[in-house]
Amino acid sequence: MKVLITGGAGFIGSHLTDALLQKGHQVTIVDDLSTGRMENFQHVRHYPNFHFVIESIMNETVMDRLISECDVIYHLASAVGVELIVNHPVEVIERCVIGTHIVLKIANRYKRKVLLTSTSEIYGKNSNPPFSEEDDRVLGPTTRSRWSYSSSKAIDEFLALAYHKEMDLPVVIVRLFNTVGPRQSDQYGMVVPRFVTQALKGEPITVYGDGEQSRCFCHVKDVVRALTTLMEHEAAVSEIFNIGSQEEVTIMQLAKRVIERTASKSQVVKIPYEQAYESGFEDMRSRKPNLNKIKKAINWQPTYSLDGILDDIIQEMTATGSNGKSAPARTAKTAKTR
Ligand code: UDP
Repeated sequence: MKVLITGGAGFIGSHLTDALLQKGHQVTIVDDLSTGRMENFQHVRHYPNFHFVIESIMNETVMDRLISECDVIYHLASAVGVELIVNHPVEVIERCVIGTHIVLKIANRYKRKVLLTSTSEIYGKNSNPPFSEEDDRVLGPTTRSRWSYSSSKAIDEFLALAYHKEMDLPVVIVRLFNTVGPRQSDQYGMVVPRFVTQALKGEPITVYGDGEQSRCFCHVKDVVRALTTLMEHEAAVSEIFNIGSQEEVTIMQLAKRVIERTASKSQVVKIPYEQAYESGFEDMRSRKPNLNKIKKAINWQPTYSLDGILDDIIQEMTATGSNGKSAPARTAKTAKTR
């Protein structure tokens, strides 16, 4: 199969590329390298079945050619990280809404199946986890930039479902919860790579708010397995699926776990949200997926524990010198628990 991955040089896209090449598919990635990185596909760059195009998905001429030449599309190109969402909302809204419109419009022209990666941000500050796909969305006011991402991705979902309903375009929608693993950059504020980098450098671990907010972190390899299985599953068309872990941890517990597993001397410091993001910033206290739907459809569930995930990340950051930058001061524990 000829597969096109938008945002293929990103963290998740690069792991998806590896998995699809391993299955024997021909993979083309399109990425403008705004947050994607060449290093992420360096190891497959010379594979005969791999092609890359450094271009924005906003370039309709290029997208027309790429989509006409592929069989299916994994649409991952999007905005990365809450910091970007808060600081550059125009870019985020345009990239999500206009970019996805272009992908769907051209996919429909050639009737190519699209798997759209959406987000758990869709549920907003709904305070009733675990979240099921049919749950209500609870959002703050439009004066808080954070909610622009949730709304933009909701438009993406509406549009994908509308293309299916009116024009019979095959679409599958997934809502990714917190996804982590090797190659995830610490540059965009995501908590796990940031804490591991801080711990390896012996710097203070920056816990935002009171640290009692909780998240569930899923290994990118588990996520990629869900994506490829759903793409092949005929009954997934026009459906929405949560993908994530159900192992909940508070951010304070996470900080302590990272310190322990890296044997770091780092101290935890609490930073108020308004200092970390912007005044009036609203965070989710808890975010956990209900996985009944995906379990029933494709019998998927995560295989990595949080400790297994952290050890994988610590091992990679130690080996590469903390995200390819300065070499870390400490050696991590490498025992792998899954
Ligand atoms: N967070 C933190 N310190 C950091 C970065 C993030 O305490 O240096 C917190 C953040 O406020 C949120 C949680 O960790 O409560 C998860 O943040 P992330 O940006 O990774 O994901 P999301 O907010 O999208 O769940």
